[in-house]
Amino acid sequence: MRVTSTLGHGPQGRGSVAGVRVWIDQDLCTGDGLCVDHAPDVFTLLDDGIAYVVEAGVALNDPGGSGSLAWVTPRAEHSVVQAAEICPGECIFIEMPRPEIVETSGATGRAPS
Ligand code: SF4
Repeated sequence: MRVTSTLGHGPQGRGSVAGVRVWIDQDLCTGDGLCVDHAPDVFTLLDDGIAYVVEAGVALNDPGGSGSLAWVTPRAEHSVVQAAEICPGECIFIEMPRPEIVETSGATGRAPS
C-alpha cells in the first residue's frame, strides 16, 4: 500500500475538511478485482479488464492513473485501505490529508506528522 500526504479540500469544496483520495496505476493492475470485492462503491472493473476508481457512481477512466483521483467517503475509508493492503499489483495509491496547522498563543507550529 502506498500512502502519500497532501493538502486539499474535501468533496464538499473549498474550505471544507480535507479528505482522503485514491487512484490506481492501471499499468500495474492485474485485473483480479479484489479491490472491487472490498470497496465496490470506490473501485470498478471496466471492459478492458482493469480497475478504475469511482466517484459518485462514475468511473474515472479518463485519463485514469494519477490524473483520476476519487474522493473517498469517510464510510469507505477503511475498505479502501484494506483493498490497498491486499492489492497484488500494489497499484492503489491513497492520498491522506496533511495535518492541520496548529496555532498556539504566541507561537505557530505544525501538528506532528
Ligand atoms: S486489487 Fe489491485 S491489481 Fe487487483 S484489480 Fe484492484 S487495483 Fe487491480
